[in-house]
Amino acid sequence: MDFGKLIRDAISKLSGKVIDESSIRSLVKDIQKALLMADVNVNIVRDISKRIEERALKEKPLPGMTMNEHVAKIVYDELVNIMGKGRTLDLKKQKIMLCGLYGSGKTSTVGKLARYFMKRGLTVSAICCDTSRPAAYEQLKQISEKVGFEFYGEKNLDSWKIVENGLKKVKGDVVIVDTSGRSALDKELIEELKKVNDYLNPDERILVVSADIGQIAKKQAEEFNNAIGITGIIVTKMDGSGKGGGAISSCAATGSKILFIGTGEKMDDLEEFNPEKYVGRLLGIPDFESLIKKMKEVGVEKKEMKGELDIETFYDQLKSMKKMGPLRSIAQSIGLIDLPKELIEESEENMKKYESIILSMTKEERKNPELVLKNNKRIDRISMGSGVKREDEKENERERRGYKNYRRTSGGDTRK
Ligand code: GDP
Ligand code: MG
Repeated sequence: MDFGKLIRDAISKLSGKVIDESSIRSLVKDIQKALLMADVNVNIVRDISKRIEERALKEKPLPGMTMNEHVAKIVYDELVNIMGKGRTLDLKKQKIMLCGLYGSGKTSTVGKLARYFMKRGLTVSAICCDTSRPAAYEQLKQISEKVGFEFYGEKNLDSWKIVENGLKKVKGDVVIVDTSGRSALDKELIEELKKVNDYLNPDERILVVSADIGQIAKKQAEEFNNAIGITGIIVTKMDGSGKGGGAISSCAATGSKILFIGTGEKMDDLEEFNPEKYVGRLLGIPDFESLIKKMKEVGVEKKEMKGELDIETFYDQLKSMKKMGPLRSIAQSIGLIDLPKELIEESEENMKKYESIILSMTKEERKNPELVLKNNKRIDRISMGSGVKREDEKENERERRGYKNYRRTSGGDTRK
């Protein structure tokens, strides 16, 4: 089960409930379950639970926010908080050393990083000094040919010597060095990495870890940091693992900054890590902050439309909705998560239709829709002006085309 969905479900369970100690406690329980399943460390889970519980019960919602949105926002904030801080690499001439255990994604990440810098106007050279795996040389060489950066490697030579020789030859602004791995960090590897580090004198020593190791990432981050002093972490395979949250939060707990996440096998599948964006996406709310801000800016009022349909008010609301962005995000912000795509699309279509109908109505007609209902000429004029066909015309057309189970919808019916 996907971590984001578990959390989204936990939040949506709140809708319609009174926010009190018992509903918050059950929310927190659900969130704990989700976090533990994503392999987030129990201490982190305990801390975040406490904070969510305290804040949800103590803090008052901001004006214009419902209690549900308020709680969702707290959960979001606290998740962002445990995912630490991102950091971006400087776009400058520099030397970068990648390290990590076997299969963590080092060699692929060399290629991805190269593409990242090249897209930003820097030239890149890579040096292969992974001497532990026979195929390492060919693998990186192939990637360099595909992505188009300079490659340097030598076989049957100590890795620090390869670095020494390579540095004299390569010309890229950014020099990225791929190093040997192991199945665990042992003395021998530590020695090797230290020597490579001495010969290279890199600006960045980046640890590459795979998301699927979950909270074990903490141990790796600590060990590599003690051995050579890491300057940042890249978490790969975020696409294929439900443990990404565990890996990221446990790296964050060591105080190391996460630079990128790997999101696939292709060379473009590298994203700068941004905790807000990551958590937002988990929760299905791509941009929670800006959505809340927008809701306040446009001053969406939640008052029910009562009594007669006032078309001007309806139109104002339509316009406010449009200003807030795609319907999907609006729906998500009020807890309607995982709505079927078709429903969203149909509703968006309807909104467009309503708007063009209203725009084709005169002021007088908007004030007094009765005028339209009783007058076929007015209906035809509005239908022409808005491009929205009358319901009876549509029916004829559908019959002509042989639609059998035509479902009558209210959308676009100007005679209502
Ligand atoms: P290394 O041993 O640390 O150099 O790891 P590699 O770069 O050779 O990667 C090991 C495997 O993981 C390869 O099959 C890669 O294609 C794959 N891989 C690396 N990064 C990612 C990622 O972000 N997502 C996915 N799905 N696969 C990845
Ligand atoms: Mg490799």
